[in-house]
Amino acid sequence: MEKKELVRLLALENFDPIYEEADRVRRENVGDTVHIRAIIEFSNLCRRKCRYCGLNSANKNAVRYRMSPEEILDTAGQAVRAGYRTIVLQSGEDPGFHKETMGDIVEKIKRMGAAVTLSCGELSYEELDFLKKRGADRYLLKHETADPELYAKLHPCGTLRQRIDCLKNIQSLKYETGSGFMIGLPGQSLRTIAEDLLLLRELDCKMAGIGPFIPHPDTPLAGEEEGSPELTKRAVALARLLLPKANLPVTTALGVIDQKEKENAFACGANVIMKKVTPDPYKEAYEIYPAKLEKTDIIGDRIRLEEQIRQLGRVPA
Ligand code: SF4
Repeated sequence: MEKKELVRLLALENFDPIYEEADRVRRENVGDTVHIRAIIEFSNLCRRKCRYCGLNSANKNAVRYRMSPEEILDTAGQAVRAGYRTIVLQSGEDPGFHKETMGDIVEKIKRMGAAVTLSCGELSYEELDFLKKRGADRYLLKHETADPELYAKLHPCGTLRQRIDCLKNIQSLKYETGSGFMIGLPGQSLRTIAEDLLLLRELDCKMAGIGPFIPHPDTPLAGEEEGSPELTKRAVALARLLLPKANLPVTTALGVIDQKEKENAFACGANVIMKKVTPDPYKEAYEIYPAKLEKTDIIGDRIRLEEQIRQLGRVPA
C-alpha cells in the first residue's frame, strides 16, 4: 500500500471490510493473545515544550514529581507479583534522571523476571547504548507526526529529523523499537496520517501506539477539537495490515474519549494494552492530557482487565 491508497482507504464510507481484514491478519500473525503491560510514569519533569502536552516545561500549573529509585522498584515489584511480565518506564525528558540511576533500575527489574520497555524521550546514542547494555529490551519513542512542517509547529525544541535519527539509533542498538503518532492534531490531514503509517513501516517498528489527540487546557492547543476515535481505529487497522507482526496497543487516550471504542479497537488489529500502575497521587500528576483516573489498585486492576479481555473472546497474557 502506498500513500494514495492509504488516503483512499482512510476516507472510505464503509470501512468494515478493512476492519475484518485487519482482525484476520492480527489473528493469523499474533494470535488471540492480548499482552498487558504495566506502565510506571516515574517522572513528569520535562525540558521540552511540545505544544499539545500538559507536561511541557512552560506549564506552570503542572504539579511536578520525580519518583525515587526505591519507589520505582517497589512499584515494579508489586506489578510483577500481580502477574505483569513487562514493565514500561515512562517519563518526560527529565535531565535529572541520570543514566547510571536508570541503568541500576533496569538491571534490578530484569532480575525480577520482567522485560523492560523504556519511554523517556530522545536520549543520546551513548545513553541508549548504556541502558541497552544494562538490560533494557525495548524503547518507545513516538514520532507524533511525519509531517516536518506540522512537527516544527508543535515541537519548538526539536526537529522531525532528530526524532527519526534517534529512532534509527534505537533500532541500530537492537532495541525492539516502537513509535507512534496522534490522530486529530490541528493541521493534520489524511495525507499526513498516510505518511505516519508509512513511516512506521519504513522504520520497521515492532510496536506502534496510535491514539487520538486530546487537548489539554494548560497548553497552547487548549480549545482545539479532539481527535476522532473512528479515524484512530482506522489508522490502527491499517497499521496492522502494514505491520502484520507488530505489537499494537490500544492507547489509553482512546478510552478517555470513549471506553466502548477502546474495546472495539481490539477487533480492528490491536493486541496490547498498557495499564498504569503509577502510585497515587503521581498518576494524577502525569497529565499529558486530561483524564478521569481511578485510584491505583495493582492486583485488582489486573484481575478486572483480564476478565474484560476474556469477555472479548481474547486471551490475556
Ligand atoms: S510530549 Fe514528552 S517530551 Fe513533549 S513535553 Fe510532553 S513529556 Fe515532554
